[in-house]
Amino acid sequence: MDNKTLNGVKCIVTSCFYNKDGNKCMADQILVEPKNAQTSDDTDCSTFRPK
Ligand code: SF4
Repeated sequence: MDNKTLNGVKCIVTSCFYNKDGNKCMADQILVEPKNAQTSDDTDCSTFRPK
């Protein structure tokens, strides 16, 4: 993991290992699921990793 953050991704999941400064993601890439989501509340970041 380098020091770059994902441009265009704002994430406030501060309990995630990849979160930085409360609203940035330091993962190389993220995967958002599920395929059949009907609302934004249905979607989740599968790249989430607990601290
Ligand atoms: S991996 Fe997902 S949950 Fe974690 S900081 Fe990045 S976008 Fe947020």
